[in-house]
Amino acid sequence: KHARDVRLVHPAHTTMDCARCGARTKHALPLSMRTYACTVCGAVSPRDKNSAHVMLVRAGWNPDGAEGVRPLGPVDPEAA
Ligand SMILES: [Zn+2]
Repeated sequence: KHARDVRLVHPAHTTMDCARCGARTKHALPLSMRTYACTVCGAVSPRDKNSAHVMLVRAGWNPDGAEGVRPLGPVDPEAA
């Protein structure tokens, strides 16, 4: 309706996966812990931002280039 590109991603483990290296923590992060720290690659970021990046990766977007990006226009359904 608003010419936005909507992609559905599986929500499982988005708070447990590392946005940088893709490693998954063994235990879910308690909600009180607001910072995600990867034990594999050492990446540290706010948990919501890390989760958002995981979702961007799952949607097929490159998180490094995602900030500030706006859809250019209607998506051609034939190209999807
Ligand atoms: Zn990592």
